Amino acid sequence: MISVYIHIPFCKSICTYCDFCKVLYQKDWAVQYLKSLNQEITDRYMGEEVRTIYIGGGTPSSLSLKEIEYLLLLTNIFNKEYLEEFTFECNIEDINEELLLLLKKFNVNRLSIGIESFDEENLLLMKRKYHTFKDIEEKINLCRKLEFNNINLDLIYALPGEKMQLLKQDIKYLLKLNPEHISTYSLMIEDNTFLSYQKINSIDEDIDAKMYEYITKKLTNNNYNHYEVSNFSKKGYESKHNLVYWNNQEYYGFGCGASGYIGGIRYNNTRSLTSYIKGNLNSSEEIISKQNNMEYELILGLRKLEGINIDEFNQKFNVHIEDVFPIKPLLKNKDLILKKNMLSINPKKIYIMNEILLKLV
Ligand code: SF4
Repeated sequence: MISVYIHIPFCKSICTYCDFCKVLYQKDWAVQYLKSLNQEITDRYMGEEVRTIYIGGGTPSSLSLKEIEYLLLLTNIFNKEYLEEFTFECNIEDINEELLLLLKKFNVNRLSIGIESFDEENLLLMKRKYHTFKDIEEKINLCRKLEFNNINLDLIYALPGEKMQLLKQDIKYLLKLNPEHISTYSLMIEDNTFLSYQKINSIDEDIDAKMYEYITKKLTNNNYNHYEVSNFSKKGYESKHNLVYWNNQEYYGFGCGASGYIGGIRYNNTRSLTSYIKGNLNSSEEIISKQNNMEYELILGLRKLEGINIDEFNQKFNVHIEDVFPIKPLLKNKDLILKKNMLSINPKKIYIMNEILLKLV
């Protein structure tokens, strides 16, 4: 069983913080892009049974309905007999009955919607379209009416100057919408983004940490399971697709800027839309050695709050994990926790996860 990620690099406007692989939507580019995507899928896919499909971006919903239909038809090449999860990312303004019915027709059963914030000023800073809570609620109700019962909502917090009160308000609205899954991201000001060119500084680290703590407490108190450093879900609604990444399992990545991991090789497609459209995937490839693979298994697996099963790790790689990584000192200083046979990052220190991982690998 395998998973599939498909990247759609088009957006209707460009957010000030974005460093993803994306361009402004243009019809002729979109048409050519979908043709190249078709070619890549046909050439690469080896006919495996597919368990999860994730169409992300960019903004897949920025395509026209006809283009979305063409895209969904491309997924018919996959062996979907055992397909469990099919996610489509959309922006709230693109949601309408026609789109939802089309997604239903192709068995999309999970929506991931970029809300990011309910606050007008926050959205202005990110250069995202503002919608009133009522507008958003109506769109979510429409999704519910058409029986989409697995919805993820994204939230971005810790924007420059953001106050705790504003975050509390955003979380309150988010909970009111009662999604099955919530992804939260602290705003990072990456190089080559509008915010970095404007020399805007990130929020103070202590405030960021307090916000993370608030989100974690509030969502877990409201029956969301904090199962990955940035992700929360109701019971049974963890993202099956994203768990493939965190469990270091193999998946196809199709499209401009997409990454995949197939047959022990990790690859990254070109981020240049013009190259991709010309059919030049220009993928860089990394053959994964046993040591690399163990590092991926550890780094990705420790993103999950439950951590990794060390018996399974030892069996899979025929080693003792403590002979390969300096586990013992980190257990001693309580950066890591070992409960039964599960090795995880101390939940009190999850906020400094990256520092802990650096000590490990
Ligand atoms: S954040 Fe999403 S919607 Fe905004 S420009 Fe980037 S890919 Fe497009």
